Amino acid sequence: MVFDLDDTLAPSKSSMDPKMSDALARLLERVEVCIISGGRFEQFEAQALSTFDASPDALRRLHLMPTCGTRYYKWEGRGWELQYAEDLTADEKSRSIATLEAGARELGLWAPGRWGDIIEDRGSQITFSALGQQAPVEAKMAWDADGSKKRALGAYASERLPDLEVRGGGSTSIDITRKGIDKAYGVGKLLDRLQLSRDELLFIGDRLDETGNDRPVFEMGVASVAISDWHETLASVDALVEWMDSPGAPFPLAVMPFPGRERAIRPATIGG
Ligand SMILES: [Mg+2]
Repeated sequence: MVFDLDDTLAPSKSSMDPKMSDALARLLERVEVCIISGGRFEQFEAQALSTFDASPDALRRLHLMPTCGTRYYKWEGRGWELQYAEDLTADEKSRSIATLEAGARELGLWAPGRWGDIIEDRGSQITFSALGQQAPVEAKMAWDADGSKKRALGAYASERLPDLEVRGGGSTSIDITRKGIDKAYGVGKLLDRLQLSRDELLFIGDRLDETGNDRPVFEMGVASVAISDWHETLASVDALVEWMDSPGAPFPLAVMPFPGRERAIRPATIGG
């Protein structure tokens, strides 16, 4: 099972509800679980891990992929250990940071100081947040209602950084990564590490729409379930656990149709 984090397991930028922690712990008794996000590991800690409680065995089945799987963490008995990191080079970072700042200044969008850092080095990703990392949701929503500011800065940066990928992140943010880094990239890394095929995965995300950041996972052919908020995810996880414990029961979730890939979904077993 693979989950998006923000707005799928936890409300945006907030921590996971204890009911979700319980449901995930029950799921982890049955299958391997991966959480993948564009955000940093610190965001996983704040939103999901700080209150998460599961048996040591269950924790070993949890796979964490911040920044779209360019980093991968696993529980190693005493803590979360980094398994690999694919960071931008120092040159890629400095060019990205300089370009974002110059572009924001030129376009009149540079307004630092209020809600934390504007430009953040996430190792494998440079992120520009117009109002700062800690800006309140209402301020973010009001900043660029028609998306024109973000588009202008995105165009400015991608013109000057043709070797890198410039992409809109949240409502006020722009992410710069190596080309080809999205959630499908991370899920591909997970398949390699666990020696699984995409047919053995089920993905749940809130942005599986055409332009959403979860869409690439669906497009790589992974069975995907679109939810609108974490409440729906919670109901889905509860239904999945019940289904896994009820041999022969019909699959309880609506999987997005993928032309040419209709197939039956069967429960997997740990170590089976
Ligand atoms: Mg999301």
